[in-house]
Amino acid sequence: RFAKNPLVTGEPHIRFYAGAPLRTRDGFALGRLCIIDDKPRHVVSASEQAALRDLAAMVMAHIEMRQMVGYLAPVTWLSNRFRLLEDIETLINENAGVGVERALVVIDSVAPEQYQDLVSTLGHAFVDTFTLGAVALIQAHLPEGTKLYQVSVARYAYVCVIGDKAAFERSVDSLRLMLRQPRHCQDIPIVPRARIGSAQFCDNIKPAVQLLRAATSATHNPSRSKFGGFWYDEKSDLVHQRAFQLLTDLPAALAAGEQLSLLYQPKIELATRACVGAEALLRWDHPELGRISPGEFIPLAERTTLMPLLTEWVLRQGIRQLDSWRRASINIQLAINISMLDLERSDFTSIVATQLKVFDVEPSLLDLEVTESALAIDIATASRRLQELRQIGVDIAIDDFGTGQSALSYLKYIPATVVKIDQLFIHSLCEERSDQCMVRSTIDLAHDLGFRVVAEGIESAEAFSWLLRNGCDVGQGFWISEPLSAHDFQEWFNREGRSTEISALPAERC
Ligand code: C2E
Ligand code: MG
Ligand code: MG
Repeated sequence: RFAKNPLVTGEPHIRFYAGAPLRTRDGFALGRLCIIDDKPRHVVSASEQAALRDLAAMVMAHIEMRQMVGYLAPVTWLSNRFRLLEDIETLINENAGVGVERALVVIDSVAPEQYQDLVSTLGHAFVDTFTLGAVALIQAHLPEGTKLYQVSVARYAYVCVIGDKAAFERSVDSLRLMLRQPRHCQDIPIVPRARIGSAQFCDNIKPAVQLLRAATSATHNPSRSKFGGFWYDEKSDLVHQRAFQLLTDLPAALAAGEQLSLLYQPKIELATRACVGAEALLRWDHPELGRISPGEFIPLAERTTLMPLLTEWVLRQGIRQLDSWRRASINIQLAINISMLDLERSDFTSIVATQLKVFDVEPSLLDLEVTESALAIDIATASRRLQELRQIGVDIAIDDFGTGQSALSYLKYIPATVVKIDQLFIHSLCEERSDQCMVRSTIDLAHDLGFRVVAEGIESAEAFSWLLRNGCDVGQGFWISEPLSAHDFQEWFNREGRSTEISALPAERC
């Protein structure tokens, strides 16, 4: 049967072969343990056969033990992250003083978000098959003998000597392009959003974990399309490191509470100038990094389970503030910003109701602001939850209105009471005719549908007076007041907030 086999006709001139299958406990054949010789042997005794089978069993026991102690990734049977880190440490130690430049290359065969989408739409079995296809492509691309590791579900890595840097970059770039080609898996065409990042190392540098983090962070490089743009870059990594630090420190800030505070920005009725409400705006004074803007840390928190806790903290503080305002005869509404993640919680309405009850605060004094783009994520869930909140008597405002890409018709389905026109349109109101048209028609449309209209970002007397003339109900912005601490807000309110007089307004300039 093997007479014409190239290993028999040519090197190594096999004349004898005996093999025992290597099977996992569940019967999956991984390969064979074989003994070959260049001299024929005609008899294999029963004890020799038994010895070969024993050896195969020992190999399997070893493989299974290695897997058990956590060095092999299931499905692909590639060495995993722990093995990679150990191998890098060994390389660094062995290379001390030799100075060979190496690269650790990290490959996302699909972006993590896409992986989640594929799992939820097509299931794990499909994704496993798809993943094995990517592994085969990567292995076929790599120089022979290069070991491929699986770092996490759809993330692989290898280490190689850089040698000619330009040639290395060409090779990695072509691997990236190849992995991004559309592929069919079980007849379903998929366009993989594959990404590659790489970090260079020699014999000195960081521990292996940091090297892996550096190469992984480079998969996010913005200049991915640029040739060789997959290298780790300290500057763009600083952004990731800062995000990482903020996310690591946020739980402690939340638990202790004193690094977080709320500022209150007044909202006034344009016609009377009386303060009718305030918006609670969260601030975080980080002990090392100073004041962090919510524009930076809220989107980070929204990617974690911290967001609902943060909202609960703001709700508690805000409702407590309403209670102390009532004692100081400040009877205004407080707006609190919430995120789509809050609306996804089935217990959110009862959390709000409980907090209101704890401080015995009228639900109508609370206004929850949710951005238009958050609503667009899952309009059915959002509108169900908002309906519940309306039923307990809380007001709902659509924040940053006009910036989302949603069709206006969705307004019909959102049980909101207030539309807040985004500041983008208000800032250039007096310069841009198109903004005037947008704002005027938004005010009319919102009024026709029964919403109150708030304009945010009023920075000038001209904008204020234009909005007043065009029927906007309420305004908020630096021209009225910046966000203030609780103490300063109370002083501002007593000085200006109770006014019901219309002071002189600028002539019609816009
Ligand atoms: P937002 O809810 O649209 O809040 C208005 C933002 O515009 C605030 O920025 C406010 O300080 C700023 N602002 C107010 N008037 C003017 C003006 O006349 N000119 C200009 N240029 N800006 C003005 P801030 O406090 O940095 O908050 C940014 C965003 O962070 C908020 O936008 C809101 O989406 C989010 N945020 C703030 N606090 C919270 C919170 O407690 N929870 C949640 N989920 N999000 C929050
Ligand atoms: Mg807001
Ligand atoms: Mg806004």
